[in-house]
Amino acid sequence: MCCCSGLLIGADMSVSSHNGPQGSDTSAIDRFIVAKSDSASIEAAPGIERANVAAVNSKAKAKSDKPSDDSSLYAEHTKIHPKRVYGMFRNIKWAVMIVALVVYYGLPWLRWNRGPALPDQAVLFDFENQRLFFGPLEIWAQEFYYVTGILVLASLSLFLVTALAGRVWCGYACPQTVWTDLFVWVERFVQGDRNQRIKLEKAPWTFDKFRKIALTHFTWLLISAATGGALVFYFRDAPTLFVEMFSGTAPSIAYVFLIVFTVTTYLLGGLAREQVCIYMCPWPRIQGAMFDDHSLLVSYRPLRGEPRGAHKKGDSWDGRGDCIDCKQCVVVCPMGIDIREGPQLACIQCALCIDACDAIMDKVGRPRGLIAYDTFENLEAAKTGGTVPVQWLRPRTILYMVLIPIVLGLMTYGWVNRAVLEVNVLRDRNPLFVNLSDGGVRNGYDVKVLNKRHDTRRVAVSVEGLPARAGAPTVEIVGLGPAAAQAIDVAPDNLRALRVYISLPAAGITALASDVTPITVVVKDLGDGTVTRRTSNFRSPRP
Ligand code: SF4
Ligand code: SF4
Repeated sequence: MCCCSGLLIGADMSVSSHNGPQGSDTSAIDRFIVAKSDSASIEAAPGIERANVAAVNSKAKAKSDKPSDDSSLYAEHTKIHPKRVYGMFRNIKWAVMIVALVVYYGLPWLRWNRGPALPDQAVLFDFENQRLFFGPLEIWAQEFYYVTGILVLASLSLFLVTALAGRVWCGYACPQTVWTDLFVWVERFVQGDRNQRIKLEKAPWTFDKFRKIALTHFTWLLISAATGGALVFYFRDAPTLFVEMFSGTAPSIAYVFLIVFTVTTYLLGGLAREQVCIYMCPWPRIQGAMFDDHSLLVSYRPLRGEPRGAHKKGDSWDGRGDCIDCKQCVVVCPMGIDIREGPQLACIQCALCIDACDAIMDKVGRPRGLIAYDTFENLEAAKTGGTVPVQWLRPRTILYMVLIPIVLGLMTYGWVNRAVLEVNVLRDRNPLFVNLSDGGVRNGYDVKVLNKRHDTRRVAVSVEGLPARAGAPTVEIVGLGPAAAQAIDVAPDNLRALRVYISLPAAGITALASDVTPITVVVKDLGDGTVTRRTSNFRSPRP
């Protein structure tokens, strides 16, 4: 069985299927894990406090909490108070968070000059005019397949990244992670780090406690409102909407969405936090199929760490593991899990436990990397003293690497060759045709001409496919007359709907071979000479 397949089933499976103490196939490493643990010790090593904590979302706890009849799906929520940690991965997370927040809040305010007739907001989802603007790109409602293409590209990129390095999206860039991180930062700023927050939570209600809790929630609500506000700015000119919001003249839908997004941001980022990742998000379940034994995942190296236990001054490191059981990896974990239990569904691969453990290893003078990004293959090979280098190129990663440029290439080709004059022709179904008093026949059509350019275009409408030798067909634009068919103005960024009659005189009708004659409606741009053709039929009485 694949080492990581337990993740498909859940945290329960993960420990027993991989390096877990309760696993049926107890290995040498497994036996190490059940070795000594000095729970009575206050210091894990000289000067290093042993955190008196159990993983909130641990397998053992989940089992002991489970009712005997196994009928309840309810899991009681235990608040997690992640401790501040310093290190490379924390710095990367700060950097990603700052970039993500700056981009999210700032993008609606970025301007892009598209000329006087068009909005100057760089990124605008202009649903009112059925268009999406991304800088120089302009996607019309008829071209929504480009959005589908972008989503396909994003999915393939996510699959590739997950196959290579697990849930890096979840750990670093997912909005739930970014906003939860921001909210925890606020909480820490107002209430202090982990120990102070726990102390405050347990303390009786005083004015100071009320002030700190109220200030935390008030700041969360402000951030949530700014988040909801920023989102609605993507759908309407941001500076205008900003003024409208505060003057009470914004569309009511803007207020509705502002409230909805404010409330959801507050609930998900401030209150639900890791519960969203564990219980609400489908991605942890899907990711089991995304990575394999060669994917780099945040892993505890039990062969090196076990048997764990406190390390006293002057003690030898021989015959024992490097893990001093300080539980710093547990107290910094935003998901409340103990990475030493093995790979778990709840782990978002944020690598904060790596930073925490590396800092401990530095303090006790042992090499870093007791917790590190590693592959299942390499962890297994380590049991027999071997190593397996990371295989970046594997069938699944090669497949994604091939598919991404193909999709990108197809989209680029489609975009470069996209029509800037769209024509749609719809023939009347009832009546199929009209007999004219002079013996001729007339068919009616709805012709829609969409001008995607930013200047007025003059077009001519004609027809091909009807016999001209015995009586030329005429094209008439209702309300404008036959002559107007040769010079019709279509305003910039506009769709012009034309009611078109195509008539064939009696002499022409007798020359038709069938009552259904394929025709081509031709729309010619009189400015640049480009021609757009659309096929249809001309119906007439049976010859
Ligand atoms: S793995 Fe590292 S941080 Fe975690 S308990 Fe062991 S020594 Fe401490
Ligand atoms: S176990 Fe480590 S990588 Fe996983 S969520 Fe916790 S801190 Fe992040």
